[in-house]
Amino acid sequence: MSNQNPVFIPGPTNMPDRLRTKMMAQTVDHRAPDFAGLFKPMLDDTKKVFGTTLGTVITFPGSGTGGWEAAVANTLSPGDKVLVARYGMFSHKWIDLCQKFGLEVQVVETPWGCGAPADRFEEILAADTAHTIKAVLVTHNETATGVLSDVGSVRRAMDSADHPAMMFVDCVSSLASVPFHFDDWGVDVAISGSQKGFMLPAGMAITCVSPKAFAAMETAKLPRCYFDFRDMAANNGKGGFPYTPPLQLIYGMREALDMLFEEGLENVYARHHRLAEGVRRAVSAWGLDLVAQEPALYSDTVSAIRVPEGFDSNRLTDHAYTAYGVSFGVGLGELNGKAFRIGHLGSLTDVMVLSGLATIEMAMADLDYPITLGSGVAAAQEYYRQTRAQAVTQG
Ligand code: PLP
Repeated sequence: MSNQNPVFIPGPTNMPDRLRTKMMAQTVDHRAPDFAGLFKPMLDDTKKVFGTTLGTVITFPGSGTGGWEAAVANTLSPGDKVLVARYGMFSHKWIDLCQKFGLEVQVVETPWGCGAPADRFEEILAADTAHTIKAVLVTHNETATGVLSDVGSVRRAMDSADHPAMMFVDCVSSLASVPFHFDDWGVDVAISGSQKGFMLPAGMAITCVSPKAFAAMETAKLPRCYFDFRDMAANNGKGGFPYTPPLQLIYGMREALDMLFEEGLENVYARHHRLAEGVRRAVSAWGLDLVAQEPALYSDTVSAIRVPEGFDSNRLTDHAYTAYGVSFGVGLGELNGKAFRIGHLGSLTDVMVLSGLATIEMAMADLDYPITLGSGVAAAQEYYRQTRAQAVTQG
């Protein structure tokens, strides 16, 4: 299990030594007066990553799934209607969670490889003159397909339809890696986790909540206790928690924010774009196709790549792991066996990405894929060389 190689799964991501060292810290009392001095500024700084001054950042022990649950349970009542498109495994799982909560879920079935269908949303919202739809749910970056949706276009659709629904956005595999604009997009609850762009272990849900979502909590009737945002916000506001916090993760989060700000968020986004583009050049040199159907949808954090007809992508990912000790993402749901994924988010450099591309090429060659060894690596190398001047600090 344990080796020195980077992982190329789309989260949890590689943990920089700097973060691991910070988290190897002795426990201190989270009720001690100086804890708030660490925790409150951390919450304020996280706002910069969400792109908000209006929202309230709330973190709690959990993961992205706990964030989905908190968003729904805090703001909605049994039987409330939500509008959501299914275009991958994670949008599917969020739909499933809503159904288990007894919500009426209007699902827009969308081909995997496409993104949130703003046009369809607009039609449906415009027809909902009684405003029965209480929330529109968007998975910003569908990690299963490598598709980044245009949240701004969903906001424009909601505004054109003059619809007052809330908007919840899953940014689990996009936040801190690609730009996010909580205020400009009019997001009401954004949901992320510690284990992707923040380069930490899983264990902390990281959410941002709008004043409108807080107002909805006053009448929302779904049961909630541990996930009650009002308890969390009241305690967070004083720099504390309503329960035992994941202290070492908070130390890690403080350091992760420092790392992101030292690099500069714009540089972090540019680095992710450049790394992703190198991977895409490799995919095209192999003669393979991305699951994402058009360039406007390409994700800068994960690429899902279809394997040629007659090959099994699970054999490929298993072989890369057993023969070379390197993990790539398996195909999920309807893509299982048909696609594999290269995660290119978090703490990565072009040199690290090249090592991943070289490894998957060896694994493909071992399994007789019709690719030329070195072709993808060379395409990525060319691109990284040409664009090296744009790359600011990496490392
Ligand atoms: N949403 C997206 C887009 C994800 O990629 C994931 C996990 O990979 C989740 C939600 C679920 O998050 P978690 O596994 O942290 O509960």
